[in-house]
Amino acid sequence: LLRHGLRNGHVPEAVGREEDWLAERLDQMRHANGVTECQLSDGRWIEEHDHRTPDGGRVGVRRDITQQREQQAALEAARAEAEAANRAKSAFLANMSHEIRTPMNGVVGMAELLCDTSLSEEQRLFAETIRSSGEALLVIINDILDYSKLEAERMTLFPEPFDLERTIHEVTMLLQPRAREKGIDLMIDFDMFLPTRYVGDPGRLRQVLTNLIGNAVKFTDKGHVLVRVVGLEDQPGRHQLHVTVEDTGIGIAPENLDHIFGEFNQVETQSNRKFEGTGLGLAITQRLIERMEGAVWVDSEMGKGSCFGFRLTLPVAEDAPVLRHPLKIKRALVVDDQFMNRTILERQLAPCGISVTLCRSGAEALSALAAGSYDVVITDHDMPEMDGLQLANRIREGGNLVP
Ligand code: ADP
Repeated sequence: LLRHGLRNGHVPEAVGREEDWLAERLDQMRHANGVTECQLSDGRWIEEHDHRTPDGGRVGVRRDITQQREQQAALEAARAEAEAANRAKSAFLANMSHEIRTPMNGVVGMAELLCDTSLSEEQRLFAETIRSSGEALLVIINDILDYSKLEAERMTLFPEPFDLERTIHEVTMLLQPRAREKGIDLMIDFDMFLPTRYVGDPGRLRQVLTNLIGNAVKFTDKGHVLVRVVGLEDQPGRHQLHVTVEDTGIGIAPENLDHIFGEFNQVETQSNRKFEGTGLGLAITQRLIERMEGAVWVDSEMGKGSCFGFRLTLPVAEDAPVLRHPLKIKRALVVDDQFMNRTILERQLAPCGISVTLCRSGAEALSALAAGSYDVVITDHDMPEMDGLQLANRIREGGNLVP
């Protein structure tokens, strides 16, 4: 039967190697128990089922699957086309956003210059509005630009040595005024034993941190926002870092937890309608961290708060300066009404060999200072009854020159 097929040229793949093909084929048939596919000389595709029967015979079924294969190919082609179109759209958006951003910078810059000239009350109002609207629009355009760059797989990272702890401090410093306005505490707990300098893209990490910490401040009305960094050495010279941003804000319902990382997705409920934003921040954050080969996650409980985190493995920067402890400081007095802040400071100071005395208020600090001597006083400013400045003044009035 096979030789008949060969003689009539039914098997294109056998041409020129008929005997070998025949041997392979016979072997395959003798041992076959299953399904194979082959193409006939007229282009049709045949699916071959071969099965042995218990009494040593065999059953073979041949089925024409040409149409099925054509449909499959058409589907594959359509998918590839759709993906290409999607990428092209993102690439177009990335280019367009750039084209929009350039003149917008001109508008904002010129409006700023205009504001510095002598204007009537009414003209100033107009110019200020142009400036602030332009700035708001630029923020949105930048989000879209970044997002479409990530989508079009055109985002390039620029790794360099940087100080992660300092980067976090800088981001929180920028968000501090908003947190203070809302009366919430913005705190950082950077593991004392962790190196602070790594090689990574500081600009993009800053963007991720700004988004996560910014969201935490935005969606929290009372309580605190805590940024915590822990990590361990993964391989020599590389650390796996866990950065979490915990808040005591409105929280996210379980059914929305996956949804919020999607593009343009915001949780729309009565409780958060008052918050503005593009809904692109978390989508960008997730893609940036994935681009850095890390992962993002979120835990949340409605009404209690949220905890966003990301994991990232970064090489330690070789230029890492040796940590020098201020050896002259042996005793520190720490004053803060917040339990969390006292704990963080104690955990940061104690490993430096400093003995730490914790006080909950200015009054407690004054009596501690009267009873003992300290090399430094570290105080919070924002405390009930006596604030940090008042405490400092009271210490000086008492003739104590402790820094
Ligand atoms: P945007 O903040 O611009 O709306 P994001 O992508 O950063 O966009 O966030 C998407 C949505 O996820 C937010 O609109 C909000 O509903 C929810 N969300 C993000 N962070 C928090 C948080 N810390 N607490 C509660 N909800 C949050």
